[in-house]
Amino acid sequence: MTGGGSGIGLAITERLRADGHAVAVLDLNPPDAEYAYKADVTDRDQIEEALTSVRRDLGPVTILVNAAGLDGFKRFADLKFEAWQRVIDVNLNGVFHCTQAVLPDMVEAGWGRIVNISSSSAHSGQPFMAHYVSAKSAVNGLTKALALELGPAGITVNAVPPGFIDTPMLRKAEERGLLGGTVEDHVQRTPVRRVGRPEDLAATCSFLISEEAGYITGQIVGVNGGRNT
Ligand code: NAD
Repeated sequence: MTGGGSGIGLAITERLRADGHAVAVLDLNPPDAEYAYKADVTDRDQIEEALTSVRRDLGPVTILVNAAGLDGFKRFADLKFEAWQRVIDVNLNGVFHCTQAVLPDMVEAGWGRIVNISSSSAHSGQPFMAHYVSAKSAVNGLTKALALELGPAGITVNAVPPGFIDTPMLRKAEERGLLGGTVEDHVQRTPVRRVGRPEDLAATCSFLISEEAGYITGQIVGVNGGRNT
């Protein structure tokens, strides 16, 4: 589990543990808990080092949820290439590194589950988030390509793009006036009339990694209250 230190990743970690899975967390700011490892998902050496501990403590990795993410808000004309690169690096290249690093375990097991947390902004676009939307759109594309490539190996790959989910990331963006209104304004434009909860994502992941979900792959499973933006 990447990004398990906060928000959506934390809720997924708690849910999967409650489901009986042994869950390790890789995060830039890991929680002070067992099987939580500090690693930057953009740094392959840090990932491999953490995975050495994970494999020693818990065994091979056959389930991967990529939830580590970094948002960013900047008018495109003012967007520095370094900021573009960092957002692409965390949100897209992080998925590349973590997936490639654990893949041998899944291939060896002849079974695997990969869930990528992308973003509903990949459907609609989002002003001032060109780098983020580009990265998350690419994650959806990567998901579809890998589903075709890895299906024969017994590995499913799906993406879960969240809508507006009540996490520190969302509230920080709201505080900075970057959402084009308050969270409550967005609730009024959401068909189910509430903000999403990290637990909504956790429930979806819990299903997608289950044995029962073995015929579901290459799908972009929106969790957004009916609103694709
Ligand atoms: P969050 O900021 O609460 O949590 C993100 C976690 O990722 C943090 O624990 C952070 O330390 C970790 N992280 C960031 N950069 C990292 C790096 N380089 N290496 C390792 N860990 C790193 O955010 P969240 O809202 O829980 O977001 C989780 C995922 O959902 C992200 O991929 C985000 O883009 C996506 N998402 C969130 C929303 C929303 O409304 N909250 C909407 C769409 C998509």
